[in-house]
Amino acid sequence: MTIARTAGRLSRALGRGGGTSVPGAVLLRLDETAPDRLARRLPDGVVAVSATNGKTTTARMLGACLAAADRRVVANRAGANLLSGVTTALLEGSAASPRPDIGLFEVDEAALPEVATRLSPRVLVLMNLFRDQLDRYGELECLASLWHEMIEGLGPDTTLVVNADDHAVLTLAGLGCPGAEGRPDGPRVVTFGVDDTSHALAEPPHAADATRCRCCGAELRHEPALLGHMGRWRCSSCGAVRPEPDVVARSVALDGVAGIELSVDTPAGRVDASIPIPGLHNAYNATAAIAGALAAGVPSELIGPALGTSVAAFGRGEQAALSGRQLVLLLAKNPAGANETVRTVLLEPGRLHVLVALNDRTADGHDVSWIWDVDYEPLLERIERLTICGDRAHDMALRFRYAGLDPERMHVVPDLAPAIDAAVAGAPEGARVYVLPTYTAMLGIREVLVDRGAVEAFWRDGADGLDGDG
Ligand SMILES: [Zn+2]
Repeated sequence: MTIARTAGRLSRALGRGGGTSVPGAVLLRLDETAPDRLARRLPDGVVAVSATNGKTTTARMLGACLAAADRRVVANRAGANLLSGVTTALLEGSAASPRPDIGLFEVDEAALPEVATRLSPRVLVLMNLFRDQLDRYGELECLASLWHEMIEGLGPDTTLVVNADDHAVLTLAGLGCPGAEGRPDGPRVVTFGVDDTSHALAEPPHAADATRCRCCGAELRHEPALLGHMGRWRCSSCGAVRPEPDVVARSVALDGVAGIELSVDTPAGRVDASIPIPGLHNAYNATAAIAGALAAGVPSELIGPALGTSVAAFGRGEQAALSGRQLVLLLAKNPAGANETVRTVLLEPGRLHVLVALNDRTADGHDVSWIWDVDYEPLLERIERLTICGDRAHDMALRFRYAGLDPERMHVVPDLAPAIDAAVAGAPEGARVYVLPTYTAMLGIREVLVDRGAVEAFWRDGADGLDGDG
């Protein structure tokens, strides 16, 4: 274990990211069962969170709730969410004094089956499955069958917290089809969802991924959809219908990019929270965190105040002041996530200054065809000035040309640093500039902002950004 820790320090010293995956990777080479054993030493076990979108933010929210209940938490860092990153965190936890009580891990959705099998989490929060990085995961169906197999292997010691508004996730947990009751020897299941239909979409967006009933194959209807394919679904044929969730957000108020207020009914009473992280997707994340915190034994009265203290994970609603303008970083890395980012930006008043950054590196996915599935069109009549940058800036420019944006409003500056300068210079003093980057573009933009003293260095936040993200 000393060798593994030294490898981490070495990696950091050599500037290879924060080194947060390296010690775990070394340890796994030396002792393949190390994470299993280290996890068993945690007296309160492990809480794991997985999803295509929102796992980083939800894990942070859960961490705030656990801390409020005086639990000593060992957590992996955003981005280091494969088995190696989780193992690194367990290794660091085993050397900490005092020892941690509980592990809290956000886990990459493809890595989850192995991580869950090894760590036997007491609480497993499954939030959503959207299309992401087609070249990496292949079809959504492939992930779904991996998750199904994993859930089949879970026993009654696990509480599975699942999103009732995501038909696919609910049915993978063995619920949601007519007559389905879950296995008697299977995990305890707690469902969560959002009931505030004032945020209904007129119709599911083009990026909606799950439009077929997994019980019978017929068309799935939404009455209504709130976010992508998530909402009150109903099968047109077999009678499958979204159940009343155990933990349900009755009202959600969206305050632009400043935050959200929500009121959530739970079996342990109502939880009200005012959270400085924006967008309806974060209302889903917060509701998942509330359900997960309750399942982990956090008293309900501590949860609302704890969520109020949670802060945006880097690049996810994070703000930075630069040259008298306010930059708002809103990660947009797949169609469903980008749609929610667009929706959040549209909550803001007035004409918009927007910087879109499109990279196609490994952690972004090399296939950028997903940008054609994003509904950027509602932005068009609100955009005052659009700056486009990144490795694939010209692909994105083409996307906005086809959308019909006035070319006079569009500025293509492929390199990140000059693009940030151009976007800032093009916005009036005091204005907000909304930055919509893919994952590695977000890391690059943050590096520029760190160089200029506008934000904290991201490795202080613990992320190495090498493993992809959520
Ligand atoms: Zn059906």
